[in-house]
Amino acid sequence: MKDIGHFIAGRRVPGESGRFGPIFDPALGEQTGRVALGGAAEVDAAVQAAKRAQPDWAATPILRRMRVMFRLKELIERDMDRLARLVTEEHGKTLEDAKGSVTRGLEVVEFACGLPQLLKGEFSHQVGGGVDLLSVRFPLGIVAGITPFNFPAMIPLWMAPLAIACGNAFILKPSEKDPSCPMALAELMTEAGVPEGIINVVNGDKEAVDAILAHPDIAAVSFVGSTPVAEYIYRTGTDHGKRVQALGGAKNHMVVMPDADLDMAVDALIGAGYGSAGERCMAVSVAVPVGDKVADALIERLAPRVRQLRIGPGTEPGVEMGPLVTREHFEKVKGYVDLGVREGARLVVDGRDFKMQGYENGFFLGGCLFDRVTTDMRIYKEEIFGPVLSVVRAHSFDEAVGMINAHEYGNGTAIFTRDGDAARTFMNQVQIGMVGINIPIPVPLSFHSFGGWKRSLFGDHHTHGMEGVRFYTRLKAVTSRWPTGIRAGAEFSMPLM
Ligand code: NAD
Repeated sequence: MKDIGHFIAGRRVPGESGRFGPIFDPALGEQTGRVALGGAAEVDAAVQAAKRAQPDWAATPILRRMRVMFRLKELIERDMDRLARLVTEEHGKTLEDAKGSVTRGLEVVEFACGLPQLLKGEFSHQVGGGVDLLSVRFPLGIVAGITPFNFPAMIPLWMAPLAIACGNAFILKPSEKDPSCPMALAELMTEAGVPEGIINVVNGDKEAVDAILAHPDIAAVSFVGSTPVAEYIYRTGTDHGKRVQALGGAKNHMVVMPDADLDMAVDALIGAGYGSAGERCMAVSVAVPVGDKVADALIERLAPRVRQLRIGPGTEPGVEMGPLVTREHFEKVKGYVDLGVREGARLVVDGRDFKMQGYENGFFLGGCLFDRVTTDMRIYKEEIFGPVLSVVRAHSFDEAVGMINAHEYGNGTAIFTRDGDAARTFMNQVQIGMVGINIPIPVPLSFHSFGGWKRSLFGDHHTHGMEGVRFYTRLKAVTSRWPTGIRAGAEFSMPLM
């Protein structure tokens, strides 16, 4: 059995709180370890370690900080297979998918390698007689990140490399469901040369989160997770005077226009709806065919593909979809399928009785496909976060866009069409943070920023890219004049430049 503690001041330390959470292998459905659940004492120990280290780190020349990022890039590449395996063992997604997610995190490290360019300030010469003005970005000090279970490598890597490269100390509170990969990443950062105290991991649940939110020495909090918790983090963190970015849940619609390449759209829906068992914040969970003819054709092609999904343990080659993360989550998703039937949607493919031979206790759910879902149903309004795709039929382009804009969430969306005008109008009108045109999961690369609109994001900053740099730094504007100006004597009125 694995026994996971915390990572404070450059080394693993055991948990002292006496509270532990179970870690499962979702494919086997068996507990494989336990993780310490820290609280105020562990958070404070991490803060004290961070406080000792951060001033020197912020003063370290930017080229040296950047070289640590170059080394981290090499180490993540070296350990790619091991990191992906840690993700699969505790999350359940396929190894291939896990590797993809580590790679998306690695790309943020690569972006951080360009920090000297990104952190260049602004300078205006001679804004007044002998007066120069410069704007320069300073680190915030100690910042924290709270991350969800579904991307235990990628989402910590959205945050930590940029925060650290900018000169901050970082405290990560990863999901208690899959803490092994985040711990391994902290060790790799230390091996790369991140000084002790600059990267810390406090494992835990709400208690550790509340200790982070209340700690007076933590300047900012990045959060990714479900919307109710995101809203709580945003409100509580800002009440405590912190800068907060809190990314929440999603219900991503994919519009299929009558002129779309239907084979391409079906492939996209299968990958984006059922990949990672639907446990992605950018998963497509609602297909919106425009017109009954497209809807009928879409269902006819989707249904056999959903039935034929290759489901199995994520470690087996050729598997397309692994199990759900925990039994509790499995029950929740299955409960939504039961609810959809009761609400009157047509369950075209029912994956509830799926059993995986040799893995009878695993948290496997077969792919489910609903047709004739309507916007008043709970299965439409709420995030299911499982391998369940709902088809909502629209009669026109305007109805499809109106439906998306009326939804509570605004993370991602896509349109499949061959018509440039429809695509461009969609891009202009849709109230969503990330839009795909014939691309089902439009996740921006690391040098752009990731984030939703409406109740999919609380706060002003998206994550990584320049938004990330801005979030982890604050601006100082310096106006300077050198000795000759002083001879003029005191000024009593506002100077006119
Ligand atoms: P979650 O909200 O349950 O947990 C996220 C983090 O918050 C974890 O570290 C957890 O320990 C902590 N937490 C949980 N309950 C808490 C509480 N009551 N008070 C304080 N902290 C609490 O989310 P999850 O189940 O781990 O992840 C899935 C969710 O994350 C989905 O809603 C998904 O859409 C969302 N997500 C969003 C994005 C995005 O970029 N917008 C990306 C990935 C996942």
